[in-house]
Amino acid sequence: MEDYPQTLVEFEERFSTEEACRAYFAELRWPYGFRCPLCGSDSAWARRSGLYECGVCGRQTSVTSGTILQDTKKPLRLWFRVMWHVTNQKYGTNALGLQRMLGLGSYRTAWSWLHKLRRAMVRPGRERLSGTVQVDESYVGGEKSGKRGRGAAGKSMVLIAAEMDASRLGRVRLHRLQNASAASLETAIQEMVEPGAFVCTDGWAGYSKLSSLGYAHQVIRQTAAVGDDLLPGCHKVAGLLKRWLLGTLQGAVSHEHLEYYLDEFTFRFNRRTSRSRGKLFYRLVQQAAAIEPVPLKAMVKHARGRKPNHKM
Ligand SMILES: [Zn+2]
Repeated sequence: MEDYPQTLVEFEERFSTEEACRAYFAELRWPYGFRCPLCGSDSAWARRSGLYECGVCGRQTSVTSGTILQDTKKPLRLWFRVMWHVTNQKYGTNALGLQRMLGLGSYRTAWSWLHKLRRAMVRPGRERLSGTVQVDESYVGGEKSGKRGRGAAGKSMVLIAAEMDASRLGRVRLHRLQNASAASLETAIQEMVEPGAFVCTDGWAGYSKLSSLGYAHQVIRQTAAVGDDLLPGCHKVAGLLKRWLLGTLQGAVSHEHLEYYLDEFTFRFNRRTSRSRGKLFYRLVQQAAAIEPVPLKAMVKHARGRKPNHKM
């Protein structure tokens, strides 16, 4: 379908009612038509309450049940506004900004919404990078440059994989690393890069077994210091990532949630050439409809260091 509003005015006109938002969400959730989650039947009535009632077993299903928006008490209209806002901000969104803009009751609500949406930014089953791929580590969240092989205090290590088309950057994948050991690097690379790809790295020993994993491996340089500019694709992405984290989070990188920020950055970066912001919005709604619910507890469990005072 790929049908989305192009401008804010179009968005406002189109999604001014719950019914309109529900219908749009339903289209993206059931592109081949409604399926009853209980009996698999495809016949249903749309009730005035917004629920779909199965024509065979009578089960009532809401359009958001089984998606990341399951059990939300807030109108879909508000969620759509948030998704429009998130995809139309050049520099990402922080929870405080969102809370203020939408008049959400609490910081915690804004925070949990953003984290739900960040999960939706990772497309389920997305394909791995292929072709020529530069791979390098970088540190985020600290000021001094780090050293490999030992933990850098206050920093997180991120593995950057960047597709290169000649000297032009293609898609990227980012992966948080516990350390720069061969085991960590190999696991991350296998998750991000298709076997058979031409992988360029520096001469760090942790990369030395990549050929045996099915990659065409080229060592670009022999030094093992982080931060040189011999893998320019990775270096460029690292610079953009750091600037983006600073702009979005004012430097307050919560290491526990770094994965989600990496996901948001990746979502934006890989769609940077998309001329229409509306298309980003469309993709985010589509992916939100395809992702299973995550209980708030599972997200908050990791939220050390930031204790929201307000109730949901
Ligand atoms: Zn049924």
